[in-house]
Amino acid sequence: MLVNSFSQSGKLMTDCCSAPGLLPFEQALTSMLTLIKSIDEIEAIQLEGALDRVLGQDIISPVNVPPCNNSAMDGYAFAQSSIEGKTSLTLVGRSMAGSPYTGKCNSGECVRIMTGAQIPSDCDSVEMQENCSAEGDNIQLQQSVKHGNHVRYAGEDIELNQVVFKQGRLLSAADLGVLASLGIDKINVFRRLNVAVLSTGDELKLASEPLSSGDIYESNSCFIGSILRRLNVNVINLGIIPDDLQSIEQAFIKADEVADAVISSGGVSVGDADFTKEVLDKLGDIAFWKIAMKPGKPFAFGKLANSYFFGLPGNPVSALVTAHQLMIPALLKMQSVSYKKPLLLKARVLGRLKKSPGRLDFQRGVISTNAGGELEVSSTGSQGSGVLTSIASANCYIVLSAEQGSVASGDYVNVQLFDKYLQ
Ligand code: AMP
Ligand code: MG
Repeated sequence: MLVNSFSQSGKLMTDCCSAPGLLPFEQALTSMLTLIKSIDEIEAIQLEGALDRVLGQDIISPVNVPPCNNSAMDGYAFAQSSIEGKTSLTLVGRSMAGSPYTGKCNSGECVRIMTGAQIPSDCDSVEMQENCSAEGDNIQLQQSVKHGNHVRYAGEDIELNQVVFKQGRLLSAADLGVLASLGIDKINVFRRLNVAVLSTGDELKLASEPLSSGDIYESNSCFIGSILRRLNVNVINLGIIPDDLQSIEQAFIKADEVADAVISSGGVSVGDADFTKEVLDKLGDIAFWKIAMKPGKPFAFGKLANSYFFGLPGNPVSALVTAHQLMIPALLKMQSVSYKKPLLLKARVLGRLKKSPGRLDFQRGVISTNAGGELEVSSTGSQGSGVLTSIASANCYIVLSAEQGSVASGDYVNVQLFDKYLQ
């Protein structure tokens, strides 16, 4: 199946939407990530607010970490070559963390040293205090000691001028710790994305409203917004838009004015009131809108004048799975984060899994370790695209390839663990 590409003007070079069939999931993902241009505006922020932001610069270490040779243990430091054959040493001083010993330490002498304290210049090895006995200034070693014993060397973790992190890194708590250890308190990051969210459907009501016959409570914008907040983007909730062409068109025009990405849900299938695709066709360029995945066949991706759009299906499970599998990698790419293929584990399935060949299936499951230490996975039950509890009660996807059919109980299947966006 053909995939559209945006031209310089932002217009699509080909029209594939008339092409028959469904786009394979991997192809949809790859072409979407190829079509997306990252936003390269950068701002300087304090490190303490940088969790889940994306680095806009390479980080070159301005120091060695640790900055000096120091002790990994509480004990005694000495020059290993000077104690050949000797078990008795004379204590000549103390080196404490933040308060180093600056005097001499000659052959047959040692310095009391604490964890993290600088190794005195004449010393090269440390014996832990549990392996020594002390009587006044006389220290007895109970065993021979290797050169460099319990010494943490300057630059052993990070060397001066080393490239520590590359631009485009999504910063974790541990990353911020590393940056703090370099004495860095301000960094350049890509600016946060503005993402507009809108839900289409005459039947959708807010929690504060009474339900009339045929109505349901709107739920998609709540979990989409929550995923977006985990992505650390600015969420602009444009609310519920009725199923009429003009209202949907106005909503998309407004969303495109304020956002870098527009996420809609509902109205992308081919029902009588499904106007989203029609509006997107008119206002922008649709790259593709039907994917060979389950749940989630109708998923539209394309470009408006100023933003990318992601037309998620209305069914909540389909919306959540397409948001997770496709929207998140796309929004990360918009912030220069490269796509990382999710890790797949092999687990034995408990119970039969129903499936017809044709689409890549993301069934929801619970994975655990059995008494024998093996991974086992079972389905969360009904896999209907409206059954949101099938995700809430799951901790993983059971990923079944497009080609395969049903799976017999006891067979091995691929499992993708839920990540921070779904838990
Ligand atoms: P649609 O794609 O608009 O045809 O919607 C498919 C199904 O998803 C219908 O049962 C809708 O009522 C439901 N649906 C659509 N949007 C939402 C939403 N925002 N929250 C909850 N359910 C929705
Ligand atoms: Mg609808």
